[in-house]
Amino acid sequence: MYDAIVVGARCAGSPTAMLLARKGYRVLLVDRARFPSDTISTHILWPHGAEALARWGLLDALAATGLPPICRRMSLDVGPFVLRGTIRGANGGRGGFCPRRTILDGLLVNAAARSGAEVRESFTVDDLLFADGAVVGLRGRGAGGKQVEERARIVIGADGVHSFVAAAVRAPEYDTRPIAVCAYYSYFSGVRQEDLELYLRERCAFGGAPTHDGLHLVMVNWPARRFAEVRADVEAHVAQALALASDFGARVSQGTREERWYGVAGVPGYFRRPYGAGWALVGDAGYCKDPMTAQGISDSFIDAERLVEALDAGLSGRGPLEDLLAAHEAARNERVRPMYELTNEIATLEPPPPPLQALFAALQHNQPATDAYLSAMTGATPLPEFMSEENVARIIDAARAGTSERDGSSSRYVG
Ligand SMILES: Cc1cc2nc3c(=O)[nH]c(=O)nc-3n(C[C@H](O)[C@H](O)[C@H](O)COP(=O)(O)OP(=O)(O)OC[C@H]3O[C@@H](n4cnc5c(N)ncnc54)[C@H](O)[C@@H]3O)c2cc1C
Repeated sequence: MYDAIVVGARCAGSPTAMLLARKGYRVLLVDRARFPSDTISTHILWPHGAEALARWGLLDALAATGLPPICRRMSLDVGPFVLRGTIRGANGGRGGFCPRRTILDGLLVNAAARSGAEVRESFTVDDLLFADGAVVGLRGRGAGGKQVEERARIVIGADGVHSFVAAAVRAPEYDTRPIAVCAYYSYFSGVRQEDLELYLRERCAFGGAPTHDGLHLVMVNWPARRFAEVRADVEAHVAQALALASDFGARVSQGTREERWYGVAGVPGYFRRPYGAGWALVGDAGYCKDPMTAQGISDSFIDAERLVEALDAGLSGRGPLEDLLAAHEAARNERVRPMYELTNEIATLEPPPPPLQALFAALQHNQPATDAYLSAMTGATPLPEFMSEENVARIIDAARAGTSERDGSSSRYVG
């Protein structure tokens, strides 16, 4: 009998298992994948996500795998304006990373094992076990195909968008959004690029970042309805998109594509109730949004931390587990909702509305405010505070007056 069984061993599952094991719980972590293992996902890890790795003592190990930091001089090119800056709002200004998932997920699963979780790779969960309406364990099979049953006080689904656990417990889903964007990405050598570059153009968005092995991730997003058309000739559609930013396009075309194009038809947006009798959900299994704002990995880390706090309090008898998990859900929703809405807005791939264009224009000559904007839109600092009418008006007024608020004295988010 385990205290917890975690299904899925990537960005959400491995940290959940690791943190529970570090608190002394007996944890089984299973995944049908065998690590190191890749998955369909680009992998921008924002500074606030890297900061979670630092809290867990894993950031130095990631940095030592031979990849440069990003977000120290990142750029967001919105057409008429290019915003360049540093994300100062998290990780002590040391930036984030763009680690290959084979390496990041491998590091996480190893950290869970080192912390005391029992890890079973190549293990597929087929059924949950119920008693009196509560989940009490699961049935699954390892590489040999032999079916086994395991029991636990709680079974945690960290099994992604198509979560088997969420489906088996019929986790209620709410505030759903349809798929909006499709994407292709690949890896290039020989590209002149030092930091993350993002380009927003009408009806497409693209960018790139340096990753492991001297390679550069190059990714392009289009409206989801164009998926079949793009898939029919990915190379031509990518070239067409990158031509909308001629310097970036030229630098990519001077490089060499080293891998195939990886594509995805789109990812839906949803919230799921992340708990019930004997079960919990974490990461994409519990809440998901379009990848356009690249929040999924960082969100999964934070969700894992917060879920473990609630579970620990409940399992150790410091409070009623159900109440603690209900509070966890409410706090999760409050934390992520502004970014959920921003993501859904950006995923329309419509040009920025006039008020946002006015803000971009005003940010042009105000480096502290640009850094603060990049911090907010990547999730390092609270988005509603930066986007408050008062703060935006202050930035626009300063631009009109020909001054920039370089001393930051008037707002904690400007400067
Ligand atoms: C195209 C694309 C680009 C993205 N780009 C970014 C980005 O740049 N930055 C970012 O932060 N996020 C990005 N994301 C989102 C990110 O990939 C996810 O948010 C993140 O992977 C969620 O982690 P997770 O652990 O919850 O789930 P997953 O990574 O989906 O892991 C789930 C695991 O569960 C296992 N599993 C499932 N079912 C079973 C079963 N029955 N038995 C055993 N094991 C099972 C799977 O094998 C898998 O390993 C992107 C996503 C996509 C699709």
